[in-house]
Amino acid sequence: METSLAHRLAAVRERINAACQKAGRDPGEVTLLAVSKTFPPDALREAWQAGQHCFGESYVQEALAKQAVLADLPIEWHFIGPLQSNKTRAVAENFAWLHSLDRAKIARRLSEQRPEHLPPLSVCIEVNLSGEATKSGCHPDAVEELCRLVASLPRLRLRGLMTIPEPTPDMALLRRRFAALRELRERLNAQGFALDTLSMGMSDDLEAAILEGATIVRVGSAIFGQREKRAR
Ligand SMILES: *Cc1c(COP(=O)(O)O)cnc(C)c1O
Repeated sequence: METSLAHRLAAVRERINAACQKAGRDPGEVTLLAVSKTFPPDALREAWQAGQHCFGESYVQEALAKQAVLADLPIEWHFIGPLQSNKTRAVAENFAWLHSLDRAKIARRLSEQRPEHLPPLSVCIEVNLSGEATKSGCHPDAVEELCRLVASLPRLRLRGLMTIPEPTPDMALLRRRFAALRELRERLNAQGFALDTLSMGMSDDLEAAILEGATIVRVGSAIFGQREKRAR
């Protein structure tokens, strides 16, 4: 059966609406970020024409190439992949959001490099809630200190927390990870931070994430189809 991108996008929006209804939440509280890594500019253009305006990319060079081709569209670009310090300038200059901040050095560079003509870069701190099972993200015990730094940097805007749970079919475990991120945000906000964002949930688990309070879900394959394995 041939299913168009617009139909898949509509189906994802339907899943979000249904999960919000189940959670007693307003669907307007949940932003769908279309994760377009590995897909060509034409696919993003098609999604744009179907009403999708925020796109997430994981690889700097690939993202810059797409941005050049799609410069006629006022897309809101989010960087969601691992970020090395030699690539911070490209993110500071070309993205509205970073979801994967995990250390102080990257934060300082981004603030120094964020151009004055742009609003501050919106930043989420990526939290590693699964210990050894995943490598990326800041240890939960180090999040508060990193929050304090980001909040103090003039060209960054601290928005919230992001997590990528370990791959598992265990929905109860995923739900516990998402709940842990929500509770961490509550603790930080009780200490005076104003985190408005929980970036969690992907194609296979967005319902669980929304039930636990996700405000941004990052959805790739359910919109664009299966990705080819990518050599990095
Ligand atoms: C690829 C990716 C996604 C999207 O994953 P899907 O399972 O395709 O929805 C979400 N978040 C991050 C950080 C990713 O790298």
